Amino acid sequence: MSAPTVGVLALQGDTREHLAALREAGAEAVTVRRLVELERVDALVIPGGESTTMSHLLRELDLLEPLRARLADGMPAYGSCAGMILLASEIADAGVPGREALPLGGIDMTVRRNAFGRQVDSFEDDIDFNGLDGSIHAVFIRAPWVERVGADVEVLARAAGHPVAVRQGRMLATAFHPEVTGDRRVHRLFVESLR
Ligand code: GLN
Repeated sequence: MSAPTVGVLALQGDTREHLAALREAGAEAVTVRRLVELERVDALVIPGGESTTMSHLLRELDLLEPLRARLADGMPAYGSCAGMILLASEIADAGVPGREALPLGGIDMTVRRNAFGRQVDSFEDDIDFNGLDGSIHAVFIRAPWVERVGADVEVLARAAGHPVAVRQGRMLATAFHPEVTGDRRVHRLFVESLR
């Protein structure tokens, strides 16, 4: 089969690292900023950044409802950090009303924004990740954690007892940033699930 076309939502955040990681994982990677670009991709990566800003831009650019519709329709997606927050069905501590992070609803879970931030802003840890050989070096930057998962959601990794990587069907989310480490196993897991 030919390489799947994977979009990276490029409104804000660490787009470039995901494009590189996806290409190394064997995908055709393109940026998505407009509806026509969203319509063309087989799957989407939502990068880290600031979920409130991304939500605002999604609404401004009339992408919010089309993106929700594609996810509801089963378009596979992978979200890291802010992307994990947006892929949730429910967000705790979403932010100031009117400028809050808006759930897109790909994964049946409640995600708490800046959850680790109350203890320590950013940290790195080697954690076990279900389905990957050996541990993975996980970089957390003002990271969320998952507070509730639905029955169909598989927890793949935990940090400090909290779920930080989850999968529901072909939807994947991590609270950490594998794109910044050079370890392509998480991107490969996602890309291979598309074939
Ligand atoms: N705290 C950010 C948010 O609420 C996420 C941080 C990140 O993506 N590194 O969106």
